[in-house]
Amino acid sequence: MNTLSKSSSVFAEAKQYIPGGVNSPVRSFRSVGGNPPFIAKGEGSKLYDLDGNEYIDYVLSYGPLLLGHAHPVVTEAVQEAAAKGTSFGAPTGAEVALAKLVCELVPSMDMVRMVNSGTEATMSAIRLARAYTGRDCIVKFIGCYHGHSDALLVHAGSGATTFGVPDSPGVTKGTAETTLSVPFNDLPALEKVFSEKGKEIAAVIMEPTPGNMGLVLPKDGYLQAIRELTKKYGSLLIIDEVMSGFRSAQGGSQSLYHIEPDITCLGKVIGGGLPVAAYGGKREIMNWVSPVGPMYQAGTLSGNPLAMAAGIAALTYMKENDVCATLTKRNAELTDALKAAADAAGVPVQVPRLGSMFTVFFSEKEVTNYEDATACDQDAFRIYFHSMLEQGIYLPPSQFETNFISLAHSDEDFAKTVAAANVAFKKAAESK
Ligand SMILES: *Cc1c(COP(=O)(O)O)cnc(C)c1O
Repeated sequence: MNTLSKSSSVFAEAKQYIPGGVNSPVRSFRSVGGNPPFIAKGEGSKLYDLDGNEYIDYVLSYGPLLLGHAHPVVTEAVQEAAAKGTSFGAPTGAEVALAKLVCELVPSMDMVRMVNSGTEATMSAIRLARAYTGRDCIVKFIGCYHGHSDALLVHAGSGATTFGVPDSPGVTKGTAETTLSVPFNDLPALEKVFSEKGKEIAAVIMEPTPGNMGLVLPKDGYLQAIRELTKKYGSLLIIDEVMSGFRSAQGGSQSLYHIEPDITCLGKVIGGGLPVAAYGGKREIMNWVSPVGPMYQAGTLSGNPLAMAAGIAALTYMKENDVCATLTKRNAELTDALKAAADAAGVPVQVPRLGSMFTVFFSEKEVTNYEDATACDQDAFRIYFHSMLEQGIYLPPSQFETNFISLAHSDEDFAKTVAAANVAFKKAAESK
């Protein structure tokens, strides 16, 4: 590997002008140490930094790039749209096309409103649930991340966990008081909250298959039980599939676990790498959204024509080529090989996988919730992470993030990755 000298000097300048030198905390590499490579370009499964280093990318912009970097169907759609004007603040046919496609792919959604980020989608979904039910409280799960709106920055995962601020300063006491949080995979804890406050709970919001404390899977029957409990108390169930949508399966985790939420949030893959997210659900509920109903929500750039073009191109290609099913099979091959490499090196790991997502947890026991995730061997993770990076494998720089594969990842990429993992796990074992 070349040095990171150009990246390092740009990073030094970045820190003068941008907090931490980055526009989203986890990019700073603070939790693993060292300087982040600054990216010059992406192509297929690869990233190239300013110093000319090539990496096989398992971050994929934290999920969106299901087809890989700069897939021609996406870039051509964006170029074509750009030539016709980049924003109108007026309705377009492309918005209808993407809305229709999303409602077809996720049958629990009768109607959908496009926004620009997952944060906006979940924030709006909660406002909608409160408006619709006339109740104030929401329930979330410890270690689930739903973006950075105030109400949801309570016991939050992802970067909030990585940097030790799951409850951010700046969130008012009043806001935090109406957010009730419980451990994931613990039905009695949720039942207790409902028995105490059920009539005040507007909604339960959850990642059905959390990916923001690393990938954690729900126990058998858990999601169904939550669906029943919310129904019993007249609370809505908001399924946040910003990450899992079009990643766990084409119809999202709700299709895998057969649960029908009231509201679904989507993001990441839905925009094909451009800023798009969405919330939607049952018609009766969506009719509360302005201008039909009284719940206000708006956006200058919402439904942006470039973003819609990218989303339509990516999702259409996904659907026509059965990309999610292909990636599920390929992911099994990769994760089995990674687990075997760790076993051979004598490093205890758990490698949960789902669709095109996986996490390598440095843990002897299965990771079922936030407490288990934070008990992982983070020193071992750091050694593994840096060794992989030096060998040209770009992984998320935190134990509490999920890895992603794309359609562009080849057998050769996987073979290189597994060879690198053999070295990295041995290094982690030697440090003990
Ligand atoms: C990434 C993510 C969000 C936030 O989306 P942004 O576009 O980063 O605001 C919300 N929920 C989940 C489950 C996510 O993974």
